[in-house]
Amino acid sequence: MQRVKVLVVGAGVVGLSTAVCIAETLPHCSVTVVAEKFSPDTTSDGAAGILLATEFPDIPLERQRRWFKESFDHLLAIADSPQAGEAGVYLSSGYHIFKDVPCDKKPYWADLVFGFRNMTDQEMKRFPNHKFGQAFTTLKCECLSYLPWLEKRFRAAGGQILHEKVTDVHKLALNYDAIINCSGVGSRFLVHDEKVYPVRGQMLKVNAPWLKNFIRDGDGKTYIYPGMRYVSIGGTRQAGDWRMEVDKEDSEGILERCGRLEPSLRAGQVTGEWVGLRPGRANLRVEREYLPVRGRQVPLVHNYGHGGCGVTLSWGTALDALDLLRQSLYEKPPLARL
Ligand SMILES: Cc1cc2nc3c(=O)[nH]c(=O)nc-3n(C[C@H](O)[C@H](O)[C@H](O)COP(=O)(O)OP(=O)(O)OC[C@H]3O[C@@H](n4cnc5c(N)ncnc54)[C@H](O)[C@@H]3O)c2cc1C
Repeated sequence: MQRVKVLVVGAGVVGLSTAVCIAETLPHCSVTVVAEKFSPDTTSDGAAGILLATEFPDIPLERQRRWFKESFDHLLAIADSPQAGEAGVYLSSGYHIFKDVPCDKKPYWADLVFGFRNMTDQEMKRFPNHKFGQAFTTLKCECLSYLPWLEKRFRAAGGQILHEKVTDVHKLALNYDAIINCSGVGSRFLVHDEKVYPVRGQMLKVNAPWLKNFIRDGDGKTYIYPGMRYVSIGGTRQAGDWRMEVDKEDSEGILERCGRLEPSLRAGQVTGEWVGLRPGRANLRVEREYLPVRGRQVPLVHNYGHGGCGVTLSWGTALDALDLLRQSLYEKPPLARL
């Protein structure tokens, strides 16, 4: 039997998760990942990788909850296995603090993480400029380790890798039976989606091994995430900003804000600075369309626009992309327009 040729564009956490799901679930498909950048040079590589989500306004909450749960369960199984260290996935506890009491005091994922509770008055005394806080244990998935681990798993399932920038999905469709678009913020150019925009994030790497608990301000602009190699401190959320250079003022602001939250950081040594572009989109896109190519209708499944939650929702949205691909392989495609 001839194998179905599937091409996944993108080798960030979304692309590699999707490629692994397809290669392991549909053995009659031959799966190739093509990308301009691989680990350690993708946006995903610099993400702190803490599992925590904000809401997409027009996507049913049950669907977002399923994405979170499937990703959490998948990563928890890794964290609970001997693979945890190599994959860079482990449990992480800390505080989510708010300057004003939020309208919704319980996010939709509150019962999916461990031990979610409101912080006590005694705990809040550490943060005199904040009025409300939540404490919980979630997962941290460090893509600097996780992406190479996923790539190894993908190759073990027979997957192939191509290093290349893609400029035209129609041309790709000449040589493949299905295309899966996981190009993150690159989707703005690759599939001309103007709803996708960069949300620039700058962070610093600090050597402060005594820090064990994360602290995140509810506005998402100030955070301290202790990790395996360094403590990630941030950050910025600059919508529409494509600059990849480190901004000195941003770094000073980050040090100042984080030092106020956690004074012991002032004794830490900054070992690196990094900038990444979150793939911003009001609603992330997991959808299918068809490309008419020489009388064939080639399925194009999109999986991009995860904003600041790409690691958090990666496995769940990969499973949805897999389902859309599977349906299109078994159902009759729409007739090509003449
Ligand atoms: C500072 C910062 C901190 C973050 N912290 C967290 C966090 O704690 N938790 C969390 O869940 N998320 C976090 N995020 C968000 C997370 O990084 C993103 O949501 C996630 O990386 C998106 O993954 P992706 O695979 O879609 O995109 P990317 O990682 O950007 O990968 C896109 C891939 O597509 C390829 N590509 C694009 N265009 C083309 C083309 N034309 N041809 C070929 N290849 C192409 C790229 O080369 C790359 O391989 C953070 C982001 C930043 C910037």
